[in-house]
Amino acid sequence: EETIEFVRATQLQGDEVSPPPPTQAQQKESIQAVRRSLPVFPFREELLAAIADHQVLIIEGETGSGKTTQIPQYLFEEGYTKKGMKIACTQPRRVAAMSVAARVAREMGVKLGNEVGYSIRFEDCTSERTVLRYMTDGMLLREFLSEPDLASYSVVMVDEAHERTLHTDILFGLIKDVARFRPELKVLVASATLDTARFSTFFDDAPVFRIPGRRFPVDIFYTKAPEADYLEACVVSVLQIHVTQPPGDILVFLTGQEEIEAACEMLQDRCRRLGSKIRELLVLPIYANLPSDMQARIFQPTPPGARKVVVATNIAETSLTIEGIIYVLDPGFWNKQPTSFQISCINIASANQRAGRAGRVAAGKCFRLYTAWAYQHELEETTVPEIQRTSLGNVVLLLKSLGIHDLMHFDFLDPPPYETLLLALEQLYALGALNHLGELTTVRWEVITLPLTAYSCSEEILTVAAMLSVNNSIFYRPKDKVVHADNARVNFFLPGGDHLVLLNVYTQWAESGYSSQWCYENFVQFRSMRRARDVREQLEGLLERVEVGLSSCQGDYIRVRKAITAGYFYHTARLTRSGYRTVKQQQTVFIHPNSSLFEEQPRWLLYHELVLTTKEFMRQVLEIESSWLLEVAPHYYKAKELEDPHSKKMPKKIGKTREELG
Ligand code: ADP
Ligand code: MG
Repeated sequence: EETIEFVRATQLQGDEVSPPPPTQAQQKESIQAVRRSLPVFPFREELLAAIADHQVLIIEGETGSGKTTQIPQYLFEEGYTKKGMKIACTQPRRVAAMSVAARVAREMGVKLGNEVGYSIRFEDCTSERTVLRYMTDGMLLREFLSEPDLASYSVVMVDEAHERTLHTDILFGLIKDVARFRPELKVLVASATLDTARFSTFFDDAPVFRIPGRRFPVDIFYTKAPEADYLEACVVSVLQIHVTQPPGDILVFLTGQEEIEAACEMLQDRCRRLGSKIRELLVLPIYANLPSDMQARIFQPTPPGARKVVVATNIAETSLTIEGIIYVLDPGFWNKQPTSFQISCINIASANQRAGRAGRVAAGKCFRLYTAWAYQHELEETTVPEIQRTSLGNVVLLLKSLGIHDLMHFDFLDPPPYETLLLALEQLYALGALNHLGELTTVRWEVITLPLTAYSCSEEILTVAAMLSVNNSIFYRPKDKVVHADNARVNFFLPGGDHLVLLNVYTQWAESGYSSQWCYENFVQFRSMRRARDVREQLEGLLERVEVGLSSCQGDYIRVRKAITAGYFYHTARLTRSGYRTVKQQQTVFIHPNSSLFEEQPRWLLYHELVLTTKEFMRQVLEIESSWLLEVAPHYYKAKELEDPHSKKMPKKIGKTREELG
């Protein structure tokens, strides 16, 4: 079969010499011995002393040194949870929160959900007794709503701070404030590497505690030429490593569930075909929606003689450490925004972090599926914080919903420009999300963009909103049933566009009694649908609370389309002679090939989101009429900019409508 040519270019320096492979006795070491072997362990006392001495401490340590699993346990052992006080440790990713909590529970010999638990959106695995609480950063934000001073917490550890998610960034501002009037609250900010000085400055020059890591050298290889199909290239490279390289497990970085499942399937398929010609290769995926028993499998030791390949999202970059990885395969992409399909190139900091994962237990190798030239010239230095990438409207609504009204004086780690903040406030006012006093109106931020009352179709809009929240994982397309799967998808098409298709899928599923069999027959992901149902129930509860009654459009989909237009009026595009252009910014955009409107090419469109892959694609598009825009957003559009240059040259008397032409 084909092979990929790699050239060795650089080496990531290490400070240790490779140890001999572990003996069987060592492999059977007790869990406590493993704890004692972690890099953080020798610093236990020093660290606890520093925490006792300072209210805020920044902790920097190489990934895998034991920050997340050990430090909360040390604090527990030291008595920080006496009198029912709790310790919070935040993670940007749900999988990390779940997996780490499970590990810590095992290390402490307790049942998950008792002393140690986790809480993530839609899943609370904690109880009255839970004193070590791993949670997503978003969940800790929610805690501020019920407990603005976090009075039941003795320690808050903001972990993975370097990821700079929106939630984490906002937590910083809130926690800094709370710390001022709760001097006994301990604040820990833990970060893989880099930029700790930044956190220190923000927290009034808090001291930085460094945990020296162990690192073995990693040889870095690049492809000679760029790869056209990186998924295929990944599969080929994994097999190549498996066949040519000495023992050691492989870690592959891909961008999301669909891609990971495809890669795993391809790998298993080829291994099956090679049969006994190669040694056993265990193929294990890890991504956010993977059931937890499957997640746990990646940590199980590889049986002697076999090799393990873990195919992971970015989660394995810093949040999870898998023992025994010697080879890293890095195609150079990641999904910036797990809620959408924003695949982009990683940056240099990430590339090096990924390579470092190969040098944790012994000298390793990192194979980059891009050229050395691309690494030097095309990758950016570091990640732009999410707060600078997301719509500021979201930030404003989030803060307002947390009861923070004076946004101009909120303590941001990276304050957004004053003008942009003002613009966001204006836009939200125009949308009816804020009243003239700048207060949040009754509608919450998840539903805010879909006005519910004006068009009396809240039933349908709730469904569309819920489906949009899981929209990239609704249909599945197994490799061996592509034609069936595509047919099933097309059967859901309704005139009007993708939002109505989502509505159609959900409605039919509901009619089937929320059946999993129905999902199976229609190539729809049951798990995603169940999730949509959860979201929908939550939204329904919210509406009840703000006393918005439910009403249905009774099949009058124009109302649904208008309601969506009222919410997304600023996401519009028009068909010009040279393809689609966004109405306001005149940006060239394309309908995503998966869209139900791909072939129709209507003149006016509304899109749910823009996704940049090979082109700027509009995902989830809806056909609209330009007159609706004047109806729903007269403050935003002028009649003149919605005029159609083509129709002007074609007087009505002569031009015939589609119906007239028959
Ligand atoms: P850090 O937060 O500094 O990156 P962690 O506390 O996550 O480090 O990890 C410390 C050690 O615990 C690592 O060696 C890792 O392999 C191990 N570990 C973490 N989670 C699990 C798990 N679920 N199963 C087995 N080992 C784990
Ligand atoms: Mg960690």
